[in-house]
Amino acid sequence: MDASAIIAANLQRVSDQIADAAQRAGRQPEEITLVGVTKYVDAAAAGRLCNAGCCDLGESRPQSLWEKAVALTEPTIRWHMIGHLQRNKVKRTLPFITLLHSGDSLRLLEAVDAEAGALQRTIDVLLEVNISGDAAKHGFTVEELSATLPQLAEFANLNIRGLMTMAALEGGTERARQDFAALRELRDQLQAVCSPAIELRDLSMGMSEDYAEAIQEGATIVRIGSALWEGLKA
Ligand SMILES: *Cc1c(COP(=O)(O)O)cnc(C)c1O
Repeated sequence: MDASAIIAANLQRVSDQIADAAQRAGRQPEEITLVGVTKYVDAAAAGRLCNAGCCDLGESRPQSLWEKAVALTEPTIRWHMIGHLQRNKVKRTLPFITLLHSGDSLRLLEAVDAEAGALQRTIDVLLEVNISGDAAKHGFTVEELSATLPQLAEFANLNIRGLMTMAALEGGTERARQDFAALRELRDQLQAVCSPAIELRDLSMGMSEDYAEAIQEGATIVRIGSALWEGLKA
């Protein structure tokens, strides 16, 4: 099989598994957006994934996102910034992206709001939560987020759409599922007390190893890399 056929077959398999997981959870597959994470592959392979039908593409490093976004001109591609964004890269990144998953600090979101204002646009953002408490991870702690949300609600150029997390590295799918449930419960708690102007609709959670669990716990966006590139030579 050539690269396009391999990618198309992988996408079909992942999409089927998303649909299965949704069905088991009593949900509709259309409620779940697949973001194909392209950090392992070059722009050509990323373009093939869009041709196969997945045009929501995610990158965790800003430079890689810029490179691929410039290289690929398919108008249907929607870029998602899913990794840590340094403030000095905000200006260059915002014009490319449809959703910032990694809103991980007040300082960053301040900078995003200011730049969005300069561009006269509103930016869709998710608030990244370090739900597992892993010291190496970015994201708000649960306590920080509760304290900061009223301030975030003041930013005129941010459209806060929900929460994002990565499950603990250790502990397998069982632990991942607990982390995902905790993110959903946090969303429900915050939604009950936050400004009605904010609708925390989206939960971005679940990767190649644990997306079935994430869908079970209410994910509306799954970010999948490795499973889409299996069988491609590096
Ligand atoms: C790499 C990455 C993913 C995808 O991981 P896979 O296990 O390869 O599916 C998802 N989210 C973020 C933030 C990532 O950096």
